[in-house]
Amino acid sequence: MLRVSRQSSGEPEVFYSLQGEGANIGGPSVFLRLATCNLACTWCDTKYTWDWANFDYNQEVMSLESSQIEEKILGFGCSNLVITGGEPLLQQSELVPLVASLKSRGMTFEVETNGTIAPLPELVRDIDQWNVSPKLANSGNPADRREDASALTAFRELPNAYFKFVVNAAGDVEEVCALRDRHNLPNQRIILMPQGQTPEALKLRSGWVSEACVKEGFRFSTRLHILLWGDERGR
Ligand code: SF4
Repeated sequence: MLRVSRQSSGEPEVFYSLQGEGANIGGPSVFLRLATCNLACTWCDTKYTWDWANFDYNQEVMSLESSQIEEKILGFGCSNLVITGGEPLLQQSELVPLVASLKSRGMTFEVETNGTIAPLPELVRDIDQWNVSPKLANSGNPADRREDASALTAFRELPNAYFKFVVNAAGDVEEVCALRDRHNLPNQRIILMPQGQTPEALKLRSGWVSEACVKEGFRFSTRLHILLWGDERGR
């Protein structure tokens, strides 16, 4: 069984859209949003997946068999699946059979993760792209919870893992550089993305964030879903 986020309609949060961030930005994809997270970012835009002080677990989460989720995903007729959360790797053992079965039907996969849990070899084998988003001090998580050296090393060794950082202020870029140096992360697989949950907030930070990318040799990503649809859930 997998714990999946539940939409207000009562349906599981499986939806068809465009990948809004990172190396595959703009790619048409089906999204599967899994519930629960091991971090608690102050600016998290999916607090309904983990913040049980402010959201009702029974309202927000549903447990589904792998076969039920597979049917739902295949119903969209799209060949790329983005597994997101919450933190999907909290349920990685349960994900292995779902991914293997969908792969046998020709699907490709991205996993979005906060980079604190090393992936299982069975998932490494089947996942096409890892969107690793280590959290900085601006997330409000203590350093010993948000930075796991062995997990980051495991992702660094995967050529299909990209490290995506949400930056809010200029000091965040220095923090990214320090983290890159501590864990030998390759510049060409580091992506900076401005923080912002409205188009205005994104635009405000895009100028200096893109300049920092040019200076350091990082990639730049915007947040397409915020530009197109604001902070609307399930888009
Ligand atoms: S790691 Fe992701 S899902 Fe978890 S609290 Fe942070 S932003 Fe939200």
